[in-house]
Amino acid sequence: MLIRLCYASLRADHQNLLKDLSDILVKSRAYNQKLKIFGVLYYANNAFFQCLEGEKTAVLNLFAKIKKDSRHQNLLLLEEKELTHVSFHSWTMKYVQENEQVDLFFKEKSISGFKPHYLKIPDLYRFVEILLETQESQGYNVKQGYKNRGYQNFF
Ligand code: FAD
Repeated sequence: MLIRLCYASLRADHQNLLKDLSDILVKSRAYNQKLKIFGVLYYANNAFFQCLEGEKTAVLNLFAKIKKDSRHQNLLLLEEKELTHVSFHSWTMKYVQENEQVDLFFKEKSISGFKPHYLKIPDLYRFVEILLETQESQGYNVKQGYKNRGYQNFF
């Protein structure tokens, strides 16, 4: 059975953000590819939002590991839903960087800033659609001037 699982969490004060994001995405893409897990990760305002799609057992096993990860905390499961097909089939883990469309979406919901813990259905579905439609981020490290500082390129 295919499922989609979405959760929100807060970044724990850990090493540095780019190293954490790079480590998470590099690891995710390798592991998820093997297990045929797909999805999206969005990070902004000290919060993570992630959707994982794939076979139920594989997704739940991964989620059990993610829940124990010390790089984040206050993890809130937003939805676990049965699927007929995966939406993020083109990405083992799409990464979408903070962007205006998401800011506007939360503003329209009268939520100040990116606060994924407040997402309720059907807003959650609309948010997932936005992440699906938004182009994958191509240049965080370049834009922020982190190019060539030793982080594995995760885009
Ligand atoms: P190990 O790599 O042996 O890790 C052992 C323990 O150390 C685990 O608890 C692990 O969480 C922790 N750990 C590993 N690396 C670090 C580090 N650099 N800093 C701090 N603690 C660390 N993994 C995926 O495979 N797919 C995903 O889609 C995915 N999404 C994630 C999203 C978020 C927001 C976060 C925070 C993590 C995500 N991870 C993902 C990573 C996942 O939580 C595990 O770290 C990973 O699956 C490896 O765990 P492990 O127990 O197999 O192995």
